[in-house]
Amino acid sequence: MKAITVEPKKPGTARFEEIPEPDVHEGSILVEAVAVGVCGTDVEIVEGKYGWAPPGATRLVLGHESLGRVVDPGPTGGFKKGDLVVGIVRRPDPVPCSNCAVGEWDMCRNGKYTERGIKEIHGFMSERWRIEPEYAIKVDPSLGILGVLLEPTTVIAKALEQVAMIGLLAALGARSFGLEVHVLDRMESGAKPDLVRALGATYHSGSVKEIGFEPDAIVECTGVGQVIADSIAAIGANGIVCLTGVGHGGVVTAAACADIAASTVLKNNVIVGSVNANKRHWFKAGNLLARADRKWLAGLITRRERPENLVQALERKPDDIKVVIQFAEV
Ligand code: BGC
Repeated sequence: MKAITVEPKKPGTARFEEIPEPDVHEGSILVEAVAVGVCGTDVEIVEGKYGWAPPGATRLVLGHESLGRVVDPGPTGGFKKGDLVVGIVRRPDPVPCSNCAVGEWDMCRNGKYTERGIKEIHGFMSERWRIEPEYAIKVDPSLGILGVLLEPTTVIAKALEQVAMIGLLAALGARSFGLEVHVLDRMESGAKPDLVRALGATYHSGSVKEIGFEPDAIVECTGVGQVIADSIAAIGANGIVCLTGVGHGGVVTAAACADIAASTVLKNNVIVGSVNANKRHWFKAGNLLARADRKWLAGLITRRERPENLVQALERKPDDIKVVIQFAEV
């Protein structure tokens, strides 16, 4: 079968190539790939900045935002042929640490967790993949290709849970849960502002410094140093900045670091990192998507590429929201 693979930590090594069929040890459910979303982490891996091949291998099958159709449900697990499924990304560390032991692998304490398409286990950008029943999530069939949005939704379900939990602990008060939503992006026009406004939220472009108010909570999704520093400067007193992006490098200035710390101290801020998602978040995200307006969701998928066009698929265009690599029709 064909797959998109990469040699992690070596830029420019991604290719669409022939690899063996998935081994039954990778899971009793056999799935035909329908689509796989492309995200910043995939781009980081392709640029040689992140990612790990499985032990003993040099190449990794890329892709962690999956959507597939069950071809063979295997003997257990309650799945049937034709079900639309998405694969959970992270696996608990083998020790396991106290968090992985209770299924909270997103909070792994020793860093020995593995992740499909990212860290030591093959991902989902292959014509067929296998999954263990306990790591397969059934998708509402009426979502169709929009089921590919499930994984990024789980990351946000987890991040919002973190914000809400810490908000409670920090006694932030009701106002910070008051759901007045603002979204900031670089694009000044096009699909992004339209989609934000359609939700009844306020759209901002340009710098965080220019938003004109002090938010109670910021969920930062870019991983860009300047945006992170500006978010910490812009957050209101007693507010929370939740970081979800995995970036690299950027400008380092010791002075700015002390300024950031001073701003956090003087405003009693909480800065929290949030990564991955456990099964609870996968279920929450599934419910959220199933209830969402299909037309609005469909506007999020701005490009569909064939797997052989991986170069274009992995290229980031300013107006892209979600690019998916489509292996088959839904
Ligand atoms: C993925 C997460 C993963 C994280 C760090 C993100 O892009 O969505 O599942 O835990 O990268 O590897």
